[in-house]
Amino acid sequence: MNVDHFRRIGLLRRKMTRAGLPGLLVTHLPDVRYLSGFTGSSAALAVTRRGARLFTDGRYKAQAAEEVRVAQVEIVSSFPAKAAVEWLAAQPGVSGAAFDPARTTVAELRQWKEALPSSLRRGFLSSLPAPLVEPLRSVKDEDELELMIEAALLGCRLFEHVLGVIRPGVREVEVAAELEHQARLLGAEGMSFETIVASGVRSALPHGRATTALLPRRGFVTLDFGVILNGYCSDMTRTVFLGKPNAKERGTYQAVLEAQETAVAAVTAGASCGEVDEAARGVLRREGLAEAFSHSTGHGLGLEIHEPPRIGAGLNSRLVPGMVITIEPGVYFAGRFGIRIEDMVAVTANGGQVLTPTPKALIEL
Ligand code: ZN
Ligand code: ZN
Repeated sequence: MNVDHFRRIGLLRRKMTRAGLPGLLVTHLPDVRYLSGFTGSSAALAVTRRGARLFTDGRYKAQAAEEVRVAQVEIVSSFPAKAAVEWLAAQPGVSGAAFDPARTTVAELRQWKEALPSSLRRGFLSSLPAPLVEPLRSVKDEDELELMIEAALLGCRLFEHVLGVIRPGVREVEVAAELEHQARLLGAEGMSFETIVASGVRSALPHGRATTALLPRRGFVTLDFGVILNGYCSDMTRTVFLGKPNAKERGTYQAVLEAQETAVAAVTAGASCGEVDEAARGVLRREGLAEAFSHSTGHGLGLEIHEPPRIGAGLNSRLVPGMVITIEPGVYFAGRFGIRIEDMVAVTANGGQVLTPTPKALIEL
């Protein structure tokens, strides 16, 4: 795949110009990867309006040469970010450089300042008032959408596969192990977060990661999992039932499903994140389940499992074509049961495209 990193750096430079920034230090590795293509675990990227240079260490010499086209590569013996600061300070016409305070420790900042000539220690580095790369990353380009569709479909295949091992008496960790083993066999680089298999009363835990608990004879089982494929994360949740649900359980599942589908239908360019959240919350409120829905409706994802935008109550930020978000309302009754249903949805100009087409009618096993 020929990802256009030049385009991405070009968009970043436009934002730098608008913000009056002559230099930018990028240290958050997903940002570095997004801008340069470099996938190693140690790097910093320095960007000026005219140049870009990637700093990494000797372990990544061959890899950086292969992956990075958009920036010159410099191999350093240690502390790539420090070397990047020194390089920025030495560039003619670069009177200052900004960094993302949310991705910088106090110790790092001290080290970077110490690397500067004393005349620059006070004013050269500045902290960004808001992230610059994150908003770019939240709107996926065609290359990224393709990869995210692939990752999402791999998730769907895994769910179908793992249905075959879900039965009473099997441990939650066995279900998770089967799912993760199969993910690797199908090409995943890893899981995008710890696999959640929450059965019976444990389904009432929104983040009930798999334990050695045995799946019960009857009750809900929530599976929430994602893969990393070509760097991109997938995320989906399905809740199934072991045995026969009673009317109350069935009715509650239907309410969550309706909330989820209503929110999916509300996804479109220009909608606010709060409106999409309210679409789900409104249905559950009508059903008397508002209290049981204890988290926000969804989140953006991409190179990371949680990215902007957040889909939560009262949020005014608006959806833009190319954003990929999750829609995942759920209800939780401590000591009894819980239900969550989650899809990945790509925002388009006139609606939302569901990337996880696995059916959502209640499966009874
Ligand atoms: Zn999830
Ligand atoms: Zn999620």
